[in-house]
Amino acid sequence: MDNRKPEWLRAKLPTSREYKEVREIVDTNDLHTVCKSAQCPNMGECWSRGTATVMILGNICTRSCRFCAIQTGRPTELDLGEPARVAESIARMNLRHAVITSVARDDLKDGGASVWAATIRAVHHRSPECAVEVLTADFRGQQEYLDVVLDACPDIFNHNLETVERLQRPIRKTARYDRSLWVLQHAKSRGFITKSGIMLGIGEKEDEIKQVLTDMVQAGVDILTIGQYLQPSKKHVNIDRWVTPEEFKRWKEFALEIGFGACESGPMIRSSYHADKQSDMFDVR
Ligand code: SF4
Ligand code: SF4
Repeated sequence: MDNRKPEWLRAKLPTSREYKEVREIVDTNDLHTVCKSAQCPNMGECWSRGTATVMILGNICTRSCRFCAIQTGRPTELDLGEPARVAESIARMNLRHAVITSVARDDLKDGGASVWAATIRAVHHRSPECAVEVLTADFRGQQEYLDVVLDACPDIFNHNLETVERLQRPIRKTARYDRSLWVLQHAKSRGFITKSGIMLGIGEKEDEIKQVLTDMVQAGVDILTIGQYLQPSKKHVNIDRWVTPEEFKRWKEFALEIGFGACESGPMIRSSYHADKQSDMFDVR
């Protein structure tokens, strides 16, 4: 495989005033963003549109998925001022749609569910017009903690499958395919708009992609994202192939045919890309 990025994956350099404003709020409020930690290629575009994905519960993850750029290790102490600080920053960014995610905190009994709930409530209180989309870990499948998050009423509940069933163990060893599907199914059973996503180019086969999308629809997932896997460093799993824009388009058509309500599929798509447009489609707030 040619390791050079194809033309369609080259992002533009950010220069806009809005980009600088978001950067200033992120830096001065000590916010962690996935945009920066995961080296997201859309930072110029998203930050210029006033969209960012804020990461809570610190920036050190207890898990070590082999595709992920987030630092692994022993997490720092819980920061009890975080929910209020995140809510204040989101208000200053004047977001209509905020995406909040977290590292996995398997070191905490509740997986961080109480901080999640406090953050969602603080954002709703400070910015009542702003839709809150959460992208959570699996809380080790413990319903009581997942319910703590859902009780705080996020507008969209997102949990990523990341890849096909066969590749879960090699690249996402602490997670489980069935458990992730259950998390989505449970959120759907409580009436939430649900969302999930996968990466392509990490070794998956055509039939396996069809299967994971079908399993997601059966679990009641409403919104799907599909993007190209990008290797964050040489220590991470290799890229298997560059998926063409045409193939992404075909997967979007397939996804809509089998029952997803919305799908973003393309080389640069990440979970939170154009999340504000999807919330408009579902008229969440
Ligand atoms: Fe941030 Fe998501 Fe946009 Fe990437 S796609 S820059 S993670 S908001
Ligand atoms: Fe990255 Fe999430 Fe895996 Fe942690 S659990 S390593 S943040 S993908």
